[in-house]
Amino acid sequence: MSQNSLFRPVKVQLLPESIIIQWDDGLISSYDHRYLRLNCRCAVCVGEWPSRREIDESTVPEDVYALEYTTVGQYALQFLWSDVHYTGIYTYELLRKLSTRT
Ligand SMILES: [Zn+2]
Repeated sequence: MSQNSLFRPVKVQLLPESIIIQWDDGLISSYDHRYLRLNCRCAVCVGEWPSRREIDESTVPEDVYALEYTTVGQYALQFLWSDVHYTGIYTYELLRKLSTRT
């Protein structure tokens, strides 16, 4: 896939109740903090096995939230979570898939 075909965030807000991403096509996505945390696809969370896609929810605090975020290259966001987990990279493609339209 061409990188030019990907939508990109123009604004990311970490609010107490949710994470808001405004995209360059005008879509505004809202994510529950823990929901996004539970969708981490990193090797620590889902292991190296491609077949295992589910994270063990009991390992993630109920009140987990994103403390900070950084952009990764031109294709992803990385969040620093309050449970000191920061290896997860959320591609823009994944974030669009997880998005709840507001
Ligand atoms: Zn992870």
